[in-house]
Amino acid sequence: MGLKEECGVFGIFDIDEAAVLTTLGLHSLQHRGQEGAGIVSYDGTSFHAVKKEGLVGDNFNSAETLDKLPGRRAVGHVRYSTTGDTKLTNVQPLFANLSAGGFACAHNGNLTNTHKLTKQLVQTGSIFQTTSDTEIILQLVARSRKRKTIDKIKDALSHIQGAYSLIIMTNKKLIGIKDPFGIRPLVLGKKNKAYVLASETCALDIIGAKYIRDVENGEMVIITESGLESIKIFPNSPERPCIFERIYFSRPDSIIDGNSVYTYRKNLGEQLAIENNIDADVVVPVPDSGAPAAIGYSQKSGIPFELGIIRNHYVGRTFIEPSQSIRQFGVKLKHSVNKSSIKNKRVILIDDSIVRGTTANKVVKMVFDAGAKEVHFGISSPPIVHPDFYGIDTPQYSELIAANHNIEEITKIIGATSVFFLSLEGTYKAMGHETRNPKNPQFTDHCFTGDYPIDVRDILKHGNS
Ligand code: AMP
Repeated sequence: MGLKEECGVFGIFDIDEAAVLTTLGLHSLQHRGQEGAGIVSYDGTSFHAVKKEGLVGDNFNSAETLDKLPGRRAVGHVRYSTTGDTKLTNVQPLFANLSAGGFACAHNGNLTNTHKLTKQLVQTGSIFQTTSDTEIILQLVARSRKRKTIDKIKDALSHIQGAYSLIIMTNKKLIGIKDPFGIRPLVLGKKNKAYVLASETCALDIIGAKYIRDVENGEMVIITESGLESIKIFPNSPERPCIFERIYFSRPDSIIDGNSVYTYRKNLGEQLAIENNIDADVVVPVPDSGAPAAIGYSQKSGIPFELGIIRNHYVGRTFIEPSQSIRQFGVKLKHSVNKSSIKNKRVILIDDSIVRGTTANKVVKMVFDAGAKEVHFGISSPPIVHPDFYGIDTPQYSELIAANHNIEEITKIIGATSVFFLSLEGTYKAMGHETRNPKNPQFTDHCFTGDYPIDVRDILKHGNS
């Protein structure tokens, strides 16, 4: 139970060709998960579902498939998981016929008390069809004694802990929910008269929808034929969005809190240059995700920006491969070196993060092999010293290079001339905060600090599966 998942969700209410628009939305959220995609539509009478393993563009590209998804309402999901359990049954949205009617649920995030809940549910007769923690939500909704769907959902959520952005579709409603800390993103938009919910604003842009606002932490937005209603389903608490969405995970053109993710990443690079003044000839990004920070570093330091590493776009993200051997192979497939801009140069490589060190290891070697005189490796975020359990999927302690080695050792392991990270305070500055509020941090930043806003003992004790 409880696969580590980082995913993208999309929902649209009351518009022609809802499934086509959902396909486009999911396509623009593809970076959030490439293992599987699914859409459930509702045509006013029946629910329809198509779920596929693989990419949105490869699977939802024919009239034949889209014809199976009629109706003016739809909810969709792109899925990523790393446990190797990549079965089609786990592809979302999950759907169940409950006493009140059909119930489709798309979830981004990770629940943290799944072990306990699953045990209780199974002991009292629940039968699970999937190994996804999202099914726990469905089971809890199905069992709730409350009369109204909204109350059933609230009842279910009162039992779960963890990070979740949910889009739920019933025969009357489209519902968006963010967990009490608002860890995973969820935005609200409108295309003509139709409301849209999506993980990121890039999914609104692709369909020409207007951004209205972010769904708030602990908020439930309920969209029906009579419009939109918002209720706060948890006591008010400060929001703590995941800092990693800005550092790595979200698409650079998405807008978070009024700024593009690109701007935050450029700021991170500038801040890195302010903190680390290195004498070098060129600044080279580890593409694609290191590019905005490298631009920031180059502009601040005055050292020219060069594309010294070329990315092959026809392979998935490195992390996508479930096993270490394939993952390493993936890095080789993914990057190649552009010798002309590197030979005989002192190079500063910039990436947004180091997790296991696999990428850094490969690219540093590549750049030296191409004739670089020095290779300095700059990371536009602090060392990742704690695992994530809220849906970003950084691995366990033993696999995190910075949890096990100091900077000197990391420099040796990856074979660089020097390695430097951005400070935590510098990271907060780049995000527009004067300083990190230690009592009430503005972000969920446990990867760097170990400050987990939601109890993770259940996962630490029983693992994530
Ligand atoms: P690693 O090669 O294990 O050190 O991972 C670092 C690389 O993976 C960097 O290039 C990051 O841009 C990227 N990365 C960081 N976090 C994640 C994540 N949660 N999922 C996938 N890729 C990531």
